[in-house]
Amino acid sequence: MMTGAAIGMDTRDTETAAEYRRFEAALQATRDAGLTLSFWWRDDDAVAVTPELEQLLALRRAANVPLALAVIPRFAEPGLIDRLRNAGNVGILQHGWAHEKHSDPGEKASEFGEGRPLEESLADLIAGRERLQPMAGELFLPVLTPPWNRIGYAARAARIQAGLPGLSVFGLSGSDDHDSHVCNTHFDVIAWKTTRGFIGLKKAYHLLANEIEQRLTHPSEPIGILTHHLVHDPETNAFLATLLGKLNDQPHVRWPALTDLFDI
Ligand SMILES: [Zn+2]
Repeated sequence: MMTGAAIGMDTRDTETAAEYRRFEAALQATRDAGLTLSFWWRDDDAVAVTPELEQLLALRRAANVPLALAVIPRFAEPGLIDRLRNAGNVGILQHGWAHEKHSDPGEKASEFGEGRPLEESLADLIAGRERLQPMAGELFLPVLTPPWNRIGYAARAARIQAGLPGLSVFGLSGSDDHDSHVCNTHFDVIAWKTTRGFIGLKKAYHLLANEIEQRLTHPSEPIGILTHHLVHDPETNAFLATLLGKLNDQPHVRWPALTDLFDI
């Protein structure tokens, strides 16, 4: 077991320590049950090479795990793609078209929500793929990650027509969802509704323990870590480095290839 200091927590913080023990116990329980625990990592909103992106790529390199980068097609810079070509195990997903809100005021933000005419959504999805795919070349995966993780029912179906069979949003898809092209994220490190910074160690290990415990009954759904490199503070990056190292120490943790996650 790691000490409190090793995971960056104040050892006097007993609630955080308790959540960390739950997280460790959940890892052990899945291992004891003979399960393989699959993880994957999605980071959103990339358009350009920035110092924050370099920090993200350094984290990936140190952990030597695959990274799915959701790139906003309309604003993607060729320099970003050039950098990613030399970044190792990185794939590019399509993050909508322009990351623009087309939801009505008062509604939850979305670019391809229920209220937007389908032909508009479809045109934007196609425009996004037609710009990003040739730029990204072999790094491109035909996977849609709709901004704000929201997509209306019709647009969800129409993504296939736009050449984007893969889909990734947020939340447990459940064993009744038989779409093998869907692979979701489950664990978001940012506290969007409050500080827009790191959620904190207590919450982080609480949520991770919940996800891992759920895999005792939903073992096949990979756990998706969701990050947004442009808003990471040092605490967020330190936590991610610790987490990825800890997961790498687990003999039953796997990081499937991105193409396998989306069955493409
Ligand atoms: Zn986004």
